[in-house]
Amino acid sequence: MKTLLGGIEAGGTKFVCAVGTGPDDIRALVRIPTTTPEVTIGQALAFFQEQTRQHGPLAGLGIASFGPVELHPDSPAYGFITSTPKPGWRNADLAGPFRRALDIPIGFDTDVNGAALGEKQWGAAQGLDTFIYLTVGTGIGGGALINGRLVHGLLHPEMGHFRPPRDAKADPFPGCCPFHGDCFEGLASGPALEKRWGQRAESLPPEHPAWALEAHYIAQALANYICILSPQRLILGGGVMAQGHLFPQVRAEVLRLLNGYIQAPALLEHLDSYIVPPGLGDRAGVLGALALALDAARPGRGG
Ligand code: ADP
Ligand code: ZN
Repeated sequence: MKTLLGGIEAGGTKFVCAVGTGPDDIRALVRIPTTTPEVTIGQALAFFQEQTRQHGPLAGLGIASFGPVELHPDSPAYGFITSTPKPGWRNADLAGPFRRALDIPIGFDTDVNGAALGEKQWGAAQGLDTFIYLTVGTGIGGGALINGRLVHGLLHPEMGHFRPPRDAKADPFPGCCPFHGDCFEGLASGPALEKRWGQRAESLPPEHPAWALEAHYIAQALANYICILSPQRLILGGGVMAQGHLFPQVRAEVLRLLNGYIQAPALLEHLDSYIVPPGLGDRAGVLGALALALDAARPGRGG
């Protein structure tokens, strides 16, 4: 019998909670609106307690959270959401209530690190040990697995906030990041598209000039990630990437920006399988949380 795991994709809009063993075996799933920490965490906890009554203790729980989050296990704030502008959630203890109530191993990481791990376990990164998962949605964030390990370091990567050059003549929009204005997220997130063009990203037609500019910013980011981390694959998810026509534009622009310098067959001959959508589709987030649970439950890991 396979080990039953719990996962929480903790997002700014909703918490998706699931119990199962993997993509083909989700036994229960609920969506809980993100209101206050007390209410939302309380409802999520009640779900896992009910699941525990039905199935017995879960082997582990994974929490893949919006951020920024504290990931250092020896910090008093480990498992907390830290400097988020989201009302009520600044310095909220997210992992603690689950750790205290469930007494099982808990895996805690960023939403995108979780999604990266899920893609390695079951999706588009199987067999790879160095790759990036990037989401382009309400925000932009990247998770990285490098030499088989999720990158934590100082805090955790904030790939959405790198500073691309902006040609103010071609793109006078000053960006909408509250911290940086025209960082990558400030220029290319879903809300940035909406503010620049005055309509929701979903409603911009494929031939709209918005998309060539969007592909350019995404490609700038990817070209820089390629130079810095040498990923074996780049997986692009999130609501904005539902515009499938972006993929060929991004691929072409990455090649143009790198200009033949990086001589790798994956880039030069197999670009379609180098820059790809998530293998787990729109379930990358919640399955990423299950992958964090699987990792936490591994013998010798402890909670
Ligand atoms: P979140 O980032 O909140 O988890 P999403 O990844 O769905 O959620 O991102 C939501 C953002 O993506 C919104 O700004 C929305 O306008 C944009 N978006 C959602 N679907 C599409 C689509 N089909 N085409 C373009 N933009 C989209
Ligand atoms: Zn920023």
